[in-house]
This record gives sequence, structure tokens and C-alpha cells, in this order.
Amino acid sequence: MLRVYCAPMSKLQNKTAAITGGSTGIGLATAKRFVAEGATVFLFGRTREALDSAVAEIGHGAVGVQGDVTNAQDLDRLFETVRRERGQLDILFANAGVGANAHLSEVSAAHFDRIFDTNVKGTVFTVQKALPLMRSGASIILTGSTTGSMATPSFSVYSAAKAAIRNFARNWALDLTGTGIRVNVLSPGATETPGLQELLEDSGQATAARQALVSATPLGRLADPSEIASVATFLASDDSSFMTGSEVFADGGLAQV
Ligand code: NAD
Repeated sequence: MLRVYCAPMSKLQNKTAAITGGSTGIGLATAKRFVAEGATVFLFGRTREALDSAVAEIGHGAVGVQGDVTNAQDLDRLFETVRRERGQLDILFANAGVGANAHLSEVSAAHFDRIFDTNVKGTVFTVQKALPLMRSGASIILTGSTTGSMATPSFSVYSAAKAAIRNFARNWALDLTGTGIRVNVLSPGATETPGLQELLEDSGQATAARQALVSATPLGRLADPSEIASVATFLASDDSSFMTGSEVFADGGLAQV
């Protein structure tokens, strides 16, 4: 009997992607998945050591560029590197972000600036500076959060920053009309990452805070970063070719009930 073997098609074959905050957590899991699907991925992160270790872990297909999303020159260097090495950019995952706890009575200007500079300003200029490299069919994924549509005690500034991300996608989908470039928000629920761990510890009640998140999540657990990476892969690929301006939740039901 003749058996014909068809290799499964890689969803991102020969695509070029950039992921900010790519050396840890959701960014790293997504970089691994994108490379496994055939993409070349530029990881952008602040610390050389974390970048080197991420690039070594991923191996062929990963390139590290050191920089900070709040620094315009660093972003210029990222996209100049992409332009020089690949000519264009097919996928941008604007994922770098930071959360911190602060009750309204304790919100300082420094807290506000740190959260908004990284999550909001960083996202605006990451996307703006990537655009000249993007062509019809390209996909931009912004990282939102369930907190963008829910309330959490002592988390208002981050929550407002992620609500801003959601509205950027709505407006940029209009600004990008006619270009064929799509922009969507991926909003994770509580996900096991170094960022979440830091936040839980910062609350001073890490075990109770973790349990509260598990209890509030209908699936009864936190996400593994690879589960968020799967949804990022969907949004990056042509499987989502008729989606723009959307918010996709990967939250175990946290914000849906
Ligand atoms: P993480 O801390 O592991 O990853 C965030 C990455 O962004 C880190 O590598 C960090 O160094 C990088 N980063 C932070 N500020 C930066 C800057 N100014 N310039 C460049 N890089 C910077 O945490 P994570 O949970 O993987 O977070 C990824 C994204 O997911 C963030 O936007 C976060 O707000 C969002 N998110 C996370 C969760 C969760 O439960 N883990 C839930 C919802 C949304």
C-alpha cells in the first residue's frame, strides 16, 4: 500500500517577528513557539544576560537586541536591526509590560510614570516605529490583560494602562485601514511568569493572593505561558486573517463570568 506522508504545515514559515519583553515569561514562551512554527524572532529586552540565555535556549531562529521600550533610540536600533537583517517585519508582539500594586492613597508620580511609560507609551512607540517595516498581511499583537476590563484592589494604574491598550487596538485598526495590517489585543488571565510571581510577592501575601486568583478563575488554575503563546500564534498567523481591532482573552474564564 502506498502511504503518502504530509508534514504538518508550519504556521509562520519564513516570517519575521519582533517580541518586546521577549526574554522571560509570556514573551519567551511565544518566541519559542514562533520559532518552532518557522519564524525568525527578534527578542527585545533590557538585560543582556536574560537575552543571551533566552537566545541560547531557543537556538537557531532567535536574535537578541538589548533595549528598553521607553527609550526611542533603543526602539530605532531594534527596527534598524530587523530592517538590515530581514528587510521587513511580519509580526510584532508588543508584550513588554510591568505591573505593581498601589492603593489609590499610595499612588505616587513615580509609580504612575513607571506603569504608563512601559505599558502605554512603550506600546505606542513600539508600534509606530515598527510600521514602516510592515506590509499587507502583517499582524500586530498588543498585550492587554483581564485587568483592563475588571477591577482589582490596589491595581488601578496598571488596570487603566491595560484599558488604554484595548482602545489603541480599536483606533489603530481604523488608522491602518487600507494597509492590510491587522492589530489585535491578546489579554491573558493570571499566568505563571516571573512577572506575576514578583507581583504576588510584592503584595506581601503571595500564597493568599495566588489562591484568590486560582479561585476566581473558572478553570481553577493559572495559565502556563505556552497556553498564551498558542493564542499569540493564532493572532500572528493567517488563521486570524479576518480579525482586527479585536480583544482575545486567554484567561481560563476569569473575565468572562
Ligand atoms: P515578565 O515580567 O516575565 O515579562 C515581561 C517582560 O517585559 C520582562 O522580560 C521584562 O524585563 C520586560 N520589560 C519590562 N519593562 C520593559 C521595558 N521598559 N523595556 C523592555 N522590556 C521590558 O511578565 P509576563 O507575565 O510574561 O508579562 C508579559 C506581558 O503580559 C506584560 O505586558 C504583562 O502586563 C502581561 N500580562 C501578564 C499576566 C500574568 O498573569 N502573567 C496577565 C495579564 C497580562
